[in-house]
Amino acid sequence: MKKTLLASILAMAAISAAAQVPAEYKVAPWHGFSRCAITYSFDDLCANQLPIAIPILDKYNVKASLNVVTDWVKPEEWASVREAGIRGHEIASHTISHPNLTEKSVEEFEREQSESKRILEEKTGLEVVTMVYPYCKTTHEDITAKYYIGARVCDERIEPHTPKEMMKISSRGVGPMFNFNSAEAFNKWVDQGAEAGGWCTFLIHGIDGDGGYSAIKSSDLEEHVKYVSGKPKDFWPATCAQVCKYIMERDALQITELPAKKGYKISVKCNASSSIAKLDEPVTISRQLPNSWKSAIIYENGKAKAPLAMCKDYQKSNKATTTTTTVILDVVPGNTYEIRKK
Ligand SMILES: [Zn+2]
Repeated sequence: MKKTLLASILAMAAISAAAQVPAEYKVAPWHGFSRCAITYSFDDLCANQLPIAIPILDKYNVKASLNVVTDWVKPEEWASVREAGIRGHEIASHTISHPNLTEKSVEEFEREQSESKRILEEKTGLEVVTMVYPYCKTTHEDITAKYYIGARVCDERIEPHTPKEMMKISSRGVGPMFNFNSAEAFNKWVDQGAEAGGWCTFLIHGIDGDGGYSAIKSSDLEEHVKYVSGKPKDFWPATCAQVCKYIMERDALQITELPAKKGYKISVKCNASSSIAKLDEPVTISRQLPNSWKSAIIYENGKAKAPLAMCKDYQKSNKATTTTTTVILDVVPGNTYEIRKK
């Protein structure tokens, strides 16, 4: 108990270290200044996930988190798992043997966490940085935190923009078992997420009666994903790993700005570090440009790069209208940027 509490405090300290940015800058709560992060978290590699659900997500360029039980993967399935990972879907751990972890010894608990990560990384060649507890049952979050930057449970909540416990990220089960079973209901939930400025994680098993637990219809999934991808100002669909990294970086972002020949030179650092994950997720920031500037060009490590957006704001007074322009760009900690007058 003591250890668990200490781990949560340490985890919180790591993510709540205040971002340090000059007054002209704003750090986006979620990528692209969208209002809500959404994660599609698929458990157990049910039969129709790779052949049906993933192609639907691919069609809308949405990435999933695939939570894999290493003992359950058939030898011929590893290639498709790896291939999905290479295309940007997250390959996450769901332990080696899917036990109720609360019934395991500390040693067995740790082995389920460490070995599943090792096997997945070896089989896919990709970074494995989040996990999902079988049956959503957990203890020893301090041990989980040695191997993962985030771990998922199923508390049915919408997480706030900075979750209280990264080793207990909430999700909401879909399908008939959860009485949460239509595109309309899924859309309504993410709309609530946008209102709250939070993070909605869908916990998904079966698709189209593939025998997987609490199956949903692929047509409902598609209708919902289409809705989400059509509203980028509201929704940022991303993997659990991407959202965890974004939170860590966002809450500890350090921006320093120096004047340069045609504008400003900025260096971006992250005041948090992780031995588990590369903190390389792009974080969205904005900078209000001086009044005399109409537009700006961005350089990342010396190379020209298109900004995400350029926003104009008009303020009317009695005599004149002042226009302020704000540039919105993605930054990766460790890189340097230049904002030049155009
Ligand atoms: Zn499971």
